[in-house]
Amino acid sequence: MGIKENLETVRKNIKAAAQRAGRNPEDILLLAVSKTIDAETIKEALACDVSDLGENRVQEIMEKYDVLGGNIRWHLIGHLQTNKVKYIIDKVCLIHSVESKKLAEEINKKAAEKGIVCDILVEVNMSHEASKFGVSPEEAESFIRDISKLPNIRVKGLMTVAPFTDNPEDNRIYFRKMKNLLVDINAKNIDNINMDILSMGMTGDYEVAIEEGATIVRVGTGIFGERNYN
Ligand SMILES: *Cc1c(COP(=O)(O)O)cnc(C)c1O
Repeated sequence: MGIKENLETVRKNIKAAAQRAGRNPEDILLLAVSKTIDAETIKEALACDVSDLGENRVQEIMEKYDVLGGNIRWHLIGHLQTNKVKYIIDKVCLIHSVESKKLAEEINKKAAEKGIVCDILVEVNMSHEASKFGVSPEEAESFIRDISKLPNIRVKGLMTVAPFTDNPEDNRIYFRKMKNLLVDINAKNIDNINMDILSMGMTGDYEVAIEEGATIVRVGTGIFGERNYN
């Protein structure tokens, strides 16, 4: 199947999942994850009204930004090293993967130098997998309190990468817990903190994530097909 058909399927599934949950499908952003996908192929998706692209490597965003231009809304969804913040600070609309004070401080510093406020999400390792990045759910509130005073970042919500599984129902519990975590932290009325983004759900489990409250789903394979890492 081609990208156009894939996108039609994903959009139809998003709509159906939203309706099952009594939600407005327009409240859910489809983030097309274009890592490893070349610019020509990405253009096919852009021609089908894809507005937002997610990349997990700084180098790849920089290369594609030069070719595809600044009209696209770029999201950084992968682990970010502090020494690379300077390359993408004025290119991305949202950094999904903030999980250390050092990184938050560097983003704040580079944003201040550019005279901008950078929107970020806090990555939470909901499943406590040793192999995953992110703060634990138990640490999330104190981490957010810690970074809430940085004037040039704005904490817009939470992001999680759920475990790899064949059965999306296995991940429902993590998505539900993350929604509860966001509601709980918002209820603490921390100065400068009013989160409304839940970035959760990938090709294998985005429909379950939507049923549990996702506002951004990050879909790669479901749009572009299997990735080739060579
Ligand atoms: C690659 C990636 C995705 C997309 O994964 P698919 O299974 O291809 O949809 C989503 N989120 C993150 C953080 C990723 O690295």
